[in-house]
Amino acid sequence: GALIAVERATHGALEAIVSPKRWPAAVAPHDVMVVGAGFAGAVMARQLADAGFKVLVVDRRPHIGGNAYDRRNDAGLLIHQYGPHIFHTNSDDVFAYLSRFTQWRPYEHRVLADVRGQLVPMPINRTTLNLLYDAGLETEDDVEAFLAARAEPVEPIRTSADVVVSRVGRELYETFFRGYTRKQWGLDPSELDKAVTARVPTRADTDDRYFTDQHQAMPADGYTRMFEAMLGHPGIEILLGVDYVQARGAYPHDHLVFTGPIDEYFDHRFGKLPYRSLGFRHETLEQEWLQSVAVVNYPDEAVPYTRITEYKHLTGDSAPVTSVTYEYPSAEGDPYYPIPREENQALFKRYEALAIAEHDVTFVGRLATYRYYNMDQVVGQALATARRLIPRLHAAKIE
Ligand code: FAD
Ligand code: UDP
Repeated sequence: GALIAVERATHGALEAIVSPKRWPAAVAPHDVMVVGAGFAGAVMARQLADAGFKVLVVDRRPHIGGNAYDRRNDAGLLIHQYGPHIFHTNSDDVFAYLSRFTQWRPYEHRVLADVRGQLVPMPINRTTLNLLYDAGLETEDDVEAFLAARAEPVEPIRTSADVVVSRVGRELYETFFRGYTRKQWGLDPSELDKAVTARVPTRADTDDRYFTDQHQAMPADGYTRMFEAMLGHPGIEILLGVDYVQARGAYPHDHLVFTGPIDEYFDHRFGKLPYRSLGFRHETLEQEWLQSVAVVNYPDEAVPYTRITEYKHLTGDSAPVTSVTYEYPSAEGDPYYPIPREENQALFKRYEALAIAEHDVTFVGRLATYRYYNMDQVVGQALATARRLIPRLHAAKIE
């Protein structure tokens, strides 16, 4: 028996109960066990509990929130343990849903890229080009003409290199994308699906926001508080610091919702599905600010980290010190990113075929469906999945 913290959900708040010796006996068999307390698991648990089912949430980490988990550090500043999470969505439904569990702090994300010591807006926009090339571009037409003269048409556009080179040409591609991507993924952009770099647009205007979504905001009291509200339901119990493999036999359940890596669920029987990981270096500096925006990207391949995040910009905290995180991509460690490329998708499809045959198990979330999803997309996927699952579970109960 490892030390296990059980958090029992009560109305609105979570009460921690620690059982150092042995696992707490479940009060009663659960209708559903949910593996993972991130966005996918929390939304599924909440929807199922609201529909009247008894839910047990199990996560092997000692906290809820999955990769969106945030906490106050020793300096009292709110930091994101697993790297910067900025909420943005075009879905009114997703925004309204999460608004049941949190208030919001309006926040529009801005990013600068460090190009040989010069800080310029990223995504590339008119300002970026004028700063780098002293190009004197005054209109959107000027920018389009400037880019068109550099662009190298690629037909068809397949890879993450093609997308960028065909829009801005090889030089800007190398300056902003090649090194960053090679660090972030351990692959050349030519080896990655086009969807990866297509996440980042190139703009002819001077809009320097990272996202243009309709809703852009941070949970006013942080993500973890929002998850506490989501999971704070009398129908939900939570087991933390427990792996599914340990819990599955000990806690009877009629249905399983699995949000961990799909290849792990099936004991890697077709081989490991690649997930990219990151190392985080969290630091608190004895100065009020480090940088003028929340995130500075380092596209230079010789710099070992990809970006530095300064949290006070995101959270609105004020203090004489400042907390920052450096991200160091790595092949080893917790699974963070599915790696979008054809051969991985083919391997995922083999696991997905096994998943479809598991009638008493539902796979949902970024790791279990192997999709490079943002938070809002995971919430949307979980809401849709719950909508389909709930009638099935009701029908099974009546039988
Ligand atoms: P996760 O959050 O990974 O949750 C899965 C949980 O399952 C984990 O807590 C894990 O411990 C648990 N688990 C897995 N296997 C087991 C097991 N066998 N037993 C017990 N527990 C298990 N999205 C945005 O919208 N905006 C951003 O700015 C943004 N920034 C990001 C930055 C980084 C560095 C990363 C890595 C991701 C970022 N994302 C961002 C994406 C966001 O993190 C995900 O979309 C979201 O957190 C996925 O939720 P999930 O529940 O699917 O998975
Ligand atoms: N990217 C890049 N340079 C940048 C920013 C992004 O090459 O300055 C590429 C890189 O491959 C990255 C992808 O675009 O993984 C998507 O960027 P995004 O900021 O959406 O990544 P995330 O926040 O999900 O890590």
